[in-house]
Amino acid sequence: MSDDCIFCKIVNSSIPAKKIYEDEDVIAFNDINPSARVHFLIVPKLHVESLASCEAQHQALLGKMLLLAPKLAKEQGLTGFKTLINTGKDGGQEVFHIHVHVLGGGDKPHKI
Ligand code: AMP
Ligand code: ZN
Repeated sequence: MSDDCIFCKIVNSSIPAKKIYEDEDVIAFNDINPSARVHFLIVPKLHVESLASCEAQHQALLGKMLLLAPKLAKEQGLTGFKTLINTGKDGGQEVFHIHVHVLGGGDKPHKI
């Protein structure tokens, strides 16, 4: 838990989010500013800044997050989707608590 981290606050329910999944390790919720008809974020409960801060100890957690993407995408009615992990300020990351974006739906595939 990091005190001024918005995703830690969503993890501990001190700010609301439209949660679509939760287990002991991970939550998923709708992006507040969606870039596609369906756009949700898969977020570990553990505060890890970014993919660049991950180490071997995070391997299982990263695998779990990725394996959740197709399962949750299907539950959200998607027949295909994109995944995105922005890493570092220069990689477009704005929230420094690692997350996987899952986007899909609409007429055309979302272009990154
Ligand atoms: P990134 O640029 O990869 O760090 O993406 C951060 C994402 O978090 C953006 O798509 C934001 O729209 C989203 N976001 C920021 N605050 C919230 C929030 N309170 N609830 C849901 N999504 C959020
Ligand atoms: Zn955090």
